[in-house]
Amino acid sequence: MGKIQIFSCEKHFQEAIDAAVLRLKNGKPVALPTETVYGLAGSCENSNAIESIFFLKKRPLSDPLIVHVFDKSWACDFFDWNKDQKACFMSLAGTFWPGPLTFVMEARAGVSEVIRAGSPTVALRSPASAFFREVLQRFGRGLAAPSANMFGHISPTTARDVAEEFAGEDLAVFDGGACQVGIESTVLRIFRDGSLQVLRPGCITPAEIEECLERVGSKAVWRKKTSGSIVAAGASPGQELTHYAPRSPTFSLVEGTPRDEAEGRSLEKTVLIDFASRHQKLRTTLLGYIDPAPLGSLRCFTQELFGSLRKAEKTKGVQSILVYFPKDLKGQWSDALRDRIRRSSSGRQAQLAESEAFFIPVQV
Ligand code: AMP
Ligand code: MG
Repeated sequence: MGKIQIFSCEKHFQEAIDAAVLRLKNGKPVALPTETVYGLAGSCENSNAIESIFFLKKRPLSDPLIVHVFDKSWACDFFDWNKDQKACFMSLAGTFWPGPLTFVMEARAGVSEVIRAGSPTVALRSPASAFFREVLQRFGRGLAAPSANMFGHISPTTARDVAEEFAGEDLAVFDGGACQVGIESTVLRIFRDGSLQVLRPGCITPAEIEECLERVGSKAVWRKKTSGSIVAAGASPGQELTHYAPRSPTFSLVEGTPRDEAEGRSLEKTVLIDFASRHQKLRTTLLGYIDPAPLGSLRCFTQELFGSLRKAEKTKGVQSILVYFPKDLKGQWSDALRDRIRRSSSGRQAQLAESEAFFIPVQV
């Protein structure tokens, strides 16, 4: 049995950098903070390190990894792009990097097929976390880094989450505090014909991408009419319906009172993650009540969603988890939040029974 070692990035920045770089040079994966979620990083040129990442996460080899680079000058080692793709990338990366925007384009020969999961494309992003950036600069090579959690489970937003996830493994975790954003990057495909598609929504929105491209007079257009819409299931590997899932059955709580109450489940065994205190009066009936954004701040809710799901699944005696997020609420992170809630709950929905003592799963 191995053991988790936690290094503080804040108290001992240089020592922690040295330790991370040494491990990476030895082909060992390390868990690093990013602004989105914690990543499990390994050299993109070391096949042993890449295999260890898949092995530790129990991630299927069909699910590609994102390569993290220091800045846009590193991208030409990875992308086999044409003039239009490159121009589009340069404008967007110039605006959003370092930051939570991942680009997917055709890969140059020589980019690991394991990282790409056999696909002709590779995904690249430049993280904003100062610690991760220093590691990249010192290491001098791209780092493949998926989220540092077991495949399909909730993404980690603190070093403690990572340590719990990989308890018993020989892994170094670098603690840079809680992640600022709290959900994964927006993944953007730039096609050869210059058209665009959002493969995974994140906190950089299609509107912001459009605005940036308009500013530079780019001709890039969305591939589908519905701008920035999420691609059909299966079009991007790793975008299965069930993802970010807690260990207890999770439901998205929707408005309405169901007619058939036969399948009711007790709120006494349920933890509810609420938004803007909407269901505060159920507090005394519920096993647990978590209100990550009592004032309705989308930023707070985004930062706290994954942590709240972890807290909910760890609550003693929990049998079900409900997550409430208003159906029509629009804002910078709302589409990305809906996506994460839908996947955490595998698309299941539920409504409160009239008595408000239990909830009922509903067909959608
Ligand atoms: P994560 O587990 O947060 O690192 O997410 C990785 C996600 O990025 C995958 O699940 C895909 O949705 C996307 N991705 C990574 N590489 C590619 C690729 N080569 N082509 C398309 N999507 C990719
Ligand atoms: Mg992940």
